[in-house]
Amino acid sequence: MHTSRREFLKGATTGGVALSVLGFDLTAAMAQVRELKIARTTETRSTCPYCSVSCGVIIHTLGDRSRNVTPTVVHVEGDPDHPINQGTLCPKGITLKQNIVNDRRLTKVLYRAPGTRAWQERPWDWAVDRIARLVKDARDRDLIERDARGRAINALTSVGVIGGCTDTNEINYLLVKAFRAGLGVIPIEQQSRI
Ligand code: SF4
Repeated sequence: MHTSRREFLKGATTGGVALSVLGFDLTAAMAQVRELKIARTTETRSTCPYCSVSCGVIIHTLGDRSRNVTPTVVHVEGDPDHPINQGTLCPKGITLKQNIVNDRRLTKVLYRAPGTRAWQERPWDWAVDRIARLVKDARDRDLIERDARGRAINALTSVGVIGGCTDTNEINYLLVKAFRAGLGVIPIEQQSRI
């Protein structure tokens, strides 16, 4: 027999009311159902990556206390102690679990060589070495040491750096120190500002 969502909810509500009328107190049962979902999870505080508001979230993970179990994110909710959102999340942020637990999530390095269409899978070490090589080559080629009036500026504008929204102040400090003070990179941006 086909039961629509509306009919199911109607029946469930009627059933609940009937049990209450018969004298059953459903409060404890309902509370237990709500508690079970996150009862054995580990809480990790993080930041929603979707926009520059940067709302605080709590990620509930199941299974990371056992050596032979792969941790699984089972729930993501707003962090009530976070000063920005105080526990609330917008409709986009509330779907954050689908961003984490998603079989379409990219977890490997894919490389498309210049002038080609096909993506090739490459190791992480290869990617890090290649980025280092390209940054070094760009700096050797493009660093502007002095402006038109002969003042030292050591500016590199052909390399860009972007940080993630969950980066702390300390990580951003190191990004600026390594790339602007160290290499002279001018275009440095933060995903939280986008
Ligand atoms: S929950 Fe919504 S408003 Fe908050 S950071 Fe995420 S996308 Fe932005």
